[in-house]
Amino acid sequence: MGNSDSLIFVVDTSALVGRLSFAATEVQLATTPALLEEMKRKKLDSVVQMLLNSGKLRVIEPTPSSISAVAETASVLGDLQYLSEPDQQLLALAIDLTKQGYHAVVLTNDYAIQNIASALSIKFRSVGERGIREIIKWKTYCPGCSRLFPKRTKGEPCPQCGTPLKRRAVKKEGL
Ligand SMILES: [Zn+2]
Repeated sequence: MGNSDSLIFVVDTSALVGRLSFAATEVQLATTPALLEEMKRKKLDSVVQMLLNSGKLRVIEPTPSSISAVAETASVLGDLQYLSEPDQQLLALAIDLTKQGYHAVVLTNDYAIQNIASALSIKFRSVGERGIREIIKWKTYCPGCSRLFPKRTKGEPCPQCGTPLKRRAVKKEGL
Protein backbone atom coordinates (compact mmCIF):
# COMPACT_ATOMS: atom_id res chain seq x y z
CA MET A 1 0.00 0.00 0.00
CA GLY A 2 0.94 3.64 0.00
CA ASN A 3 1.06 4.16 -3.76
CA SER A 4 0.64 7.90 -3.57
CA ASP A 5 -1.53 9.50 -6.24
CA SER A 6 -2.16 6.21 -7.90
CA LEU A 7 -5.63 6.03 -9.46
CA ILE A 8 -7.86 3.20 -8.32
CA PHE A 9 -11.52 2.67 -9.28
CA VAL A 10 -13.77 1.35 -6.54
CA VAL A 11 -16.41 -0.66 -8.36
CA ASP A 12 -19.82 -2.16 -7.75
CA THR A 13 -21.73 -4.57 -9.95
CA SER A 14 -23.22 -1.85 -12.16
CA ALA A 15 -19.72 -0.65 -13.01
CA LEU A 16 -18.65 -4.05 -14.32
CA VAL A 17 -21.69 -4.93 -16.43
CA GLY A 18 -20.68 -4.71 -20.06
CA ARG A 19 -17.18 -3.52 -19.10
CA LEU A 20 -15.01 -6.25 -20.54
CA SER A 21 -12.72 -3.43 -21.68
CA PHE A 22 -11.37 -3.18 -18.13
CA ALA A 23 -9.50 -6.40 -18.75
CA ALA A 24 -7.53 -4.82 -21.57
CA THR A 25 -6.49 -1.60 -19.84
CA GLU A 26 -4.06 -0.72 -17.10
CA VAL A 27 -6.71 0.26 -14.57
CA GLN A 28 -6.56 -0.71 -10.93
CA LEU A 29 -9.88 -1.80 -9.48
CA ALA A 30 -10.98 -2.51 -5.93
CA THR A 31 -14.16 -3.90 -4.45
CA THR A 32 -15.42 -5.43 -1.23
CA PRO A 33 -15.94 -9.13 -0.40
CA ALA A 34 -19.75 -8.60 -0.28
CA LEU A 35 -19.80 -6.98 -3.71
CA LEU A 36 -17.58 -9.69 -5.13
CA GLU A 37 -20.22 -12.23 -4.09
CA GLU A 38 -22.91 -10.09 -5.74
CA MET A 39 -20.90 -9.89 -8.97
CA LYS A 40 -20.59 -13.65 -9.02
CA ARG A 41 -24.34 -14.06 -8.50
CA LYS A 42 -25.03 -11.68 -11.38
CA LYS A 43 -23.12 -13.93 -13.78
CA LEU A 44 -20.10 -11.66 -13.96
CA ASP A 45 -18.00 -14.62 -12.92
CA SER A 46 -15.83 -14.76 -16.04
CA VAL A 47 -15.09 -11.01 -16.03
CA VAL A 48 -14.36 -11.08 -12.31
CA GLN A 49 -12.10 -14.13 -12.59
CA MET A 50 -10.15 -12.53 -15.42
CA LEU A 51 -9.69 -9.32 -13.41
CA LEU A 52 -8.67 -11.24 -10.28
CA ASN A 53 -6.23 -13.44 -12.18
CA SER A 54 -4.58 -10.46 -13.84
CA GLY A 55 -4.23 -8.70 -10.47
CA LYS A 56 -6.33 -5.74 -11.64
CA LEU A 57 -9.11 -6.30 -9.14
CA ARG A 58 -8.31 -6.28 -5.44
CA VAL A 59 -10.83 -7.38 -2.85
CA ILE A 60 -10.55 -5.41 0.39
CA GLU A 61 -12.69 -5.34 3.52
CA PRO A 62 -13.46 -1.73 4.54
CA THR A 63 -12.75 -0.56 8.08
CA PRO A 64 -15.62 -0.33 10.59
CA SER A 65 -14.86 3.36 11.28
CA SER A 66 -15.30 4.26 7.60
CA ILE A 67 -18.53 2.24 7.42
CA SER A 68 -19.83 4.23 10.42
CA ALA A 69 -18.89 7.51 8.75
CA VAL A 70 -20.85 6.54 5.63
CA ALA A 71 -23.90 5.36 7.57
CA GLU A 72 -23.92 8.57 9.59
CA THR A 73 -23.83 10.80 6.51
CA ALA A 74 -26.49 8.73 4.75
CA SER A 75 -28.69 9.00 7.82
CA VAL A 76 -28.33 12.80 7.97
CA LEU A 77 -29.24 13.09 4.28
CA GLY A 78 -32.23 10.75 4.68
CA ASP A 79 -30.67 8.25 2.28
CA LEU A 80 -29.77 5.44 4.66
CA GLN A 81 -32.81 3.32 3.78
CA TYR A 82 -31.87 3.51 0.08
CA LEU A 83 -28.30 2.43 0.67
CA SER A 84 -27.69 -1.30 1.09
CA GLU A 85 -24.95 -2.63 3.35
CA PRO A 86 -22.72 -3.47 0.35
CA ASP A 87 -23.31 0.09 -0.97
CA GLN A 88 -22.13 1.51 2.36
CA GLN A 89 -19.08 -0.78 2.29
CA LEU A 90 -18.20 0.41 -1.21
CA LEU A 91 -18.12 4.05 -0.07
CA ALA A 92 -16.23 3.09 3.09
CA LEU A 93 -13.58 1.36 0.98
CA ALA A 94 -13.17 4.55 -1.08
CA ILE A 95 -12.57 6.47 2.16
CA ASP A 96 -9.99 3.90 3.32
CA LEU A 97 -8.11 3.94 0.00
CA THR A 98 -8.08 7.75 -0.02
CA LYS A 99 -6.57 7.73 3.47
CA GLN A 100 -3.89 5.35 2.19
CA GLY A 101 -2.90 7.89 -0.45
CA TYR A 102 -4.75 6.50 -3.44
CA HIS A 103 -6.72 8.68 -5.82
CA ALA A 104 -9.88 6.62 -5.31
CA VAL A 105 -12.85 7.09 -7.63
CA VAL A 106 -16.12 5.22 -7.10
CA LEU A 107 -17.54 3.86 -10.36
CA THR A 108 -21.27 3.34 -10.06
CA ASN A 109 -24.58 4.11 -11.71
CA ASP A 110 -26.41 4.08 -8.40
CA TYR A 111 -27.70 7.58 -7.58
CA ALA A 112 -28.00 6.95 -3.84
CA ILE A 113 -24.32 5.96 -3.75
CA GLN A 114 -23.38 9.01 -5.84
CA ASN A 115 -25.34 11.32 -3.54
CA ILE A 116 -23.53 10.11 -0.42
CA ALA A 117 -20.20 10.13 -2.26
CA SER A 118 -20.74 13.84 -3.04
CA ALA A 119 -21.57 14.59 0.57
CA LEU A 120 -18.42 12.78 1.76
CA SER A 121 -16.22 14.41 -0.90
CA ILE A 122 -15.52 11.02 -2.43
CA LYS A 123 -14.89 11.25 -6.16
CA PHE A 124 -17.23 9.23 -8.33
CA ARG A 125 -17.94 8.60 -11.96
CA SER A 126 -20.96 6.99 -13.54
CA VAL A 127 -20.60 4.41 -16.25
CA GLY A 128 -22.23 5.30 -19.52
CA GLU A 129 -24.62 7.82 -18.00
CA ARG A 130 -24.30 11.30 -16.66
CA GLY A 131 -23.80 11.44 -12.92
CA ILE A 132 -25.90 13.61 -10.66
CA ARG A 133 -24.88 17.23 -10.54
CA GLU A 134 -25.99 18.13 -7.06
CA ILE A 135 -26.37 16.75 -3.58
CA ILE A 136 -29.99 15.97 -2.90
CA LYS A 137 -31.32 15.95 0.62
CA TRP A 138 -34.57 14.04 0.94
CA LYS A 139 -37.50 14.75 3.22
CA THR A 140 -40.49 12.57 3.85
CA TYR A 141 -43.68 14.62 3.90
CA CYS A 142 -47.43 14.20 3.91
CA PRO A 143 -49.20 15.38 0.72
CA GLY A 144 -52.43 15.57 2.77
CA CYS A 145 -51.52 17.80 5.71
CA SER A 146 -48.08 19.00 4.47
CA ARG A 147 -46.26 18.02 7.66
CA LEU A 148 -42.68 16.72 7.47
CA PHE A 149 -41.78 13.34 8.95
CA PRO A 150 -38.00 12.94 8.63
CA LYS A 151 -37.88 9.69 10.60
CA ARG A 152 -40.56 7.96 8.51
CA THR A 153 -40.48 6.15 5.20
CA LYS A 154 -42.23 6.90 1.92
CA GLY A 155 -45.49 4.92 1.66
CA GLU A 156 -46.14 4.77 5.40
CA PRO A 157 -49.47 6.31 6.50
CA CYS A 158 -49.25 9.85 7.91
CA PRO A 159 -49.50 9.71 11.74
CA GLN A 160 -51.71 12.80 11.62
CA CYS A 161 -54.14 12.15 8.75
CA GLY A 162 -53.38 8.70 7.32
CA THR A 163 -52.37 9.84 3.82
CA PRO A 164 -49.46 7.75 2.43
CA LEU A 165 -46.23 9.73 2.89
CA LYS A 166 -44.12 10.87 -0.04
CA ARG A 167 -40.46 11.76 -0.46
CA ARG A 168 -39.10 14.87 -2.09
CA ALA A 169 -35.75 16.53 -2.62
CA VAL A 170 -35.53 19.60 -0.44
CA LYS A 171 -31.94 20.70 -0.85
CA LYS A 172 -29.67 20.81 -3.82
CA GLU A 173 -26.10 21.96 -3.70
CA GLY A 174 -24.13 22.45 -6.88
CA LEU A 175 -20.93 20.42 -7.06
ZN1 LIG B 1 -50.98 14.06 6.94
